[in-house]
Amino acid sequence: MGLILTGVGVSKGIAIGNACLLKGDQLEINEYVLPKHLIAEEVARFRLALATARKQLKDIHRKIPRNTPVDIASFLDTHLLMLDDSALSDAPVKLIKTQQCNAEWALMQQRDMLVSVFDAMDDIYLRTRKDDVDHVVHRVLRILLNHAPHSFEAPDSRLAGGIVVVEDLSPADSLLMHQQGVAAFVTESGGVTSHTTILARSLGVSAVAGVRHARRDIPHNAMLIIDGQQGLVLVDPDEHALRYFRARQREEKRYAVALTRLKDQPAVTRDGVAIALHANVELPEDFHSLKRVGAEGVGLYRTEFLFMNRTHLPDEEEQLQAYLRIVRGMKGAPVTIRTLDLGADKMLNGYQAGTQNAINPALGLRAVRLCLKEPLLFRPQLRAILRASAYGAVRMMVPMLTTPYELTQVLQLVRQIQEELRSEGCKYDENMPVGGMIEVPAAALMADAFARQLDFMSIGTNDLIQYTLATDRINEAVNYLYNPLHPGVLRLINMTIGAGRKAGKPVAMCGEMAGDVRYTRLLLGMGLSEFSMHPAMLLEIKSIVQDSSLTDLGKMARKVLKCSDPDEINVLVDRMNA
Ligand code: PEP
Ligand code: MG
Repeated sequence: MGLILTGVGVSKGIAIGNACLLKGDQLEINEYVLPKHLIAEEVARFRLALATARKQLKDIHRKIPRNTPVDIASFLDTHLLMLDDSALSDAPVKLIKTQQCNAEWALMQQRDMLVSVFDAMDDIYLRTRKDDVDHVVHRVLRILLNHAPHSFEAPDSRLAGGIVVVEDLSPADSLLMHQQGVAAFVTESGGVTSHTTILARSLGVSAVAGVRHARRDIPHNAMLIIDGQQGLVLVDPDEHALRYFRARQREEKRYAVALTRLKDQPAVTRDGVAIALHANVELPEDFHSLKRVGAEGVGLYRTEFLFMNRTHLPDEEEQLQAYLRIVRGMKGAPVTIRTLDLGADKMLNGYQAGTQNAINPALGLRAVRLCLKEPLLFRPQLRAILRASAYGAVRMMVPMLTTPYELTQVLQLVRQIQEELRSEGCKYDENMPVGGMIEVPAAALMADAFARQLDFMSIGTNDLIQYTLATDRINEAVNYLYNPLHPGVLRLINMTIGAGRKAGKPVAMCGEMAGDVRYTRLLLGMGLSEFSMHPAMLLEIKSIVQDSSLTDLGKMARKVLKCSDPDEINVLVDRMNA
């Protein structure tokens, strides 16, 4: 048996093939002081490099095959936008002029500044956006340094069927390699939420990220088995392992084909209860992937993404157009637009609001707290959401509610804006449902009070778990404590579902737990009737729903809820899933 390396399984699937090691290029950037008369020429050289990078990305964009998921183009669009953003196009020019330095040095300084801003962010998704800065900067630096484009930008016969082992990949790289028939990716850096791994999932290419020293420990051409779910890389596997994983690969293919047949089938349990399966959406373009799996609605539209990678705030009109793209696309199906969940540390250049330097940003001025404090940020969004409600089944959802008073304030503001719109002759849905996320333990404990004021509730388990267990899920030192099955977490979820049932208000779940097949039966047994998740998980969850009987699961869930020992709960949940 050969070597087994572990990393983070970021895109599931078994892949078997030969290792194709790609060298990362360490670009050496030196500083030069330029005489004044050469500054204009240096600025022109920098601008030309930007234009060349833009052209390269547009060429890649143009070559995207028509059958590629649409969200992929949006990753390239993000990089194109970054090239045009003043943070990358103007700021280095200023540095060249003021410091009389070379373009490479100016760009690297600006890159370090941007990366330090991202590094300080609390949100894992936003934190990994620094990868995008790096990918774009790297492309421009290669041009400035006259390096040839990467080999995979030209046809490379080693890639077909191969498993690429690389330090890091940009979305453009992974797209190009996918087009050349790569079977899987193994990267030394990257995590679950990097754009590249999101892309790998959309492309259906299995991937393991964060495999330390992968390029040192994997010989070029070695036979590899990748388990993109478990995060395993088997190097030079023996016959026994190969037989086992080939059988699993065949099984996976059969299962994937069977799942696609569920797309147009209803999500109804064996005892006839309809369960709503909705999708989480981050980019307006995401609704294409949601359509592919037949999601009945959008259970969470994270609007923060409209505010990212830019230096100025999107105005009401721009927000409205983004919402309308989804609302129109969903043709009357529910679209749950979440109001901004930005926080002190998640603010980008365009909006600072005196919120820096919070010692404990996760507990600071974020989400609805920030929105209520900053009407200039909140009002245009509320107006855009209300205006969008005239065109479809829009539901508004408020994140991070802690006290009912916050909700009262939001509702007052909504009423004020409704009046405003009425007097302006703007259309909106008078009865647009307003829901709230239950993701702060205090809100779950008093879900009954929230249920009275809200039209629906949605449990945000990502935050609920981290706040309940006082555990930062992205802090490797303590993430062993991050456990959705902790009895404390389960009780809060159960209280919220119970409060909704009592008040006759629907309760959904839109955190990662809702899209994890391990918890579906337990949640069904607890009475959850609406799940919202990454579209890639929807058909698998549907197959479990169709295979479940709520009567049986209800009994087992009650048993789980009586348990206070997490290990015992694990055993019971395994039994439910057996
Ligand atoms: C959550 O907290 O579960 C959630 C869905 O919100 P986010 O992950 O955007 O914080
Ligand atoms: Mg949250």
